[in-house]
Amino acid sequence: MARLVMKFGGTSVGSVERIKNVAKRVQKEVEAGNEVAVVVSAMSGETNRLVGLTRDVASLHDAREYDVVVSSGEQVTVGLLAMALQDLGINARSWLGWQVPIKTSDVHGAARIQEIDCGDIIRRFEEGQVAVCAGFQGVGPMNRITTLGRGGSDTSAVALAAALDADRCDIYTDVDGVYTADPRIATKASKLDRITYEEMLELASLGAKVLQTRSVEMAMKHQVKLQVLSSFEDLPGTLVVDEEDIVEEQVVSGVTYTRDEAKVTLQQVNDQPGVAATVFGALAEAHVNVDMIVQNVSEDGKATDLTFTVGRGELDACLKVLDGLKDQVNCKAIVPDPNVVKVSIVGMGMRSHAGVAQTMFAALAEKGINIQVISTSEIKVSVLLAEEYTELAVRTLHTAFNLDAA
Ligand code: ADP
Ligand code: ASP
Ligand code: MG
Repeated sequence: MARLVMKFGGTSVGSVERIKNVAKRVQKEVEAGNEVAVVVSAMSGETNRLVGLTRDVASLHDAREYDVVVSSGEQVTVGLLAMALQDLGINARSWLGWQVPIKTSDVHGAARIQEIDCGDIIRRFEEGQVAVCAGFQGVGPMNRITTLGRGGSDTSAVALAAALDADRCDIYTDVDGVYTADPRIATKASKLDRITYEEMLELASLGAKVLQTRSVEMAMKHQVKLQVLSSFEDLPGTLVVDEEDIVEEQVVSGVTYTRDEAKVTLQQVNDQPGVAATVFGALAEAHVNVDMIVQNVSEDGKATDLTFTVGRGELDACLKVLDGLKDQVNCKAIVPDPNVVKVSIVGMGMRSHAGVAQTMFAALAEKGINIQVISTSEIKVSVLLAEEYTELAVRTLHTAFNLDAA
């Protein structure tokens, strides 16, 4: 007997038929004698629709009420799945975040899970009951409903698995595992049998939305056995594991991209101490996150360009802050460019192989793709490119690092 957390994403519960299909998958595990907690997302498209409604009513709205609205999609799916399970003769009940309770911080729209009290769920496991838990939501310190950020059901599932001390956390989705690149844009992408927590963390934070970044962070911290697999086909998925469980380490394990960033250039800022501190200090104060940064040495020692990226959704806020600093940093112009993409390669083997970045730059150059900004860490290299090159760059790098499926 094992204790399992099974998580099903939006597409997997996207229709009544699919919810019944999920119920059958859960039934299999129950009949095998396992204790099961299921975590579900809202039906596909539903959370987007709800977010749209909040924007239509008021573009600047109370984040607490936003959470009340956007968390409601999951209330529907937990109820429907519990019914579908009961219809198969399985003892099941639904749990909303506040009922478990899944306690979170009060950062509405991006709350962090702080504590989960699983006592009731575990007691009901003993009666053979399946817990059907709403993903994406929790309850804040002021007893208000919170949500965990888009894609947050993955994090709900991993956090629940950690709190339940589950034997495994299975993330069922619309692809049959983690691929060497998003299979929707790289047709030659191949499925990875295993990937390390570290690589998965980089891939997720650099754009591979197959797992929410925080879910991987949490799995790594609590050593949750995590598996990504298909909810439609019976195929082995991808296991997220420790480095020592990888048989053959790849130099590059995956290529990923994100269109979530925008580039800003401050042209001809004063080349003197304190400018970067002023600019980035003011942005930090306004809670605008800065990612990549480049600054050249000026030719004459007087002025130089300062380029950086911020989240695309934060571009307006960023420009407002910069406008207020214009005189202080004395720049010629502030040039925003939202039409950029960050493409990254990730792999543990980079730590011990030289020339990886060079292979990347050469492959892009050969296709005439200009690199605007570069950033690196121990196991990744990211480049900022014009958005129109997204697909070409991902496919080119996929081929350059010998990742194409045979
Ligand atoms: P769910 O609704 O089940 O949470 P998501 O849409 O959030 O599903 O995540 C699954 C999607 O992630 C896939 O359909 C795929 O397009 C995308 N994806 C991006 N990068 C990768 C990758 N490297 N491997 C697998 N899927 C990826
Ligand atoms: N339904 C939420 C979203 O669309 C959470 C999730 O799917 O993980 O972001
Ligand atoms: Mg998801």
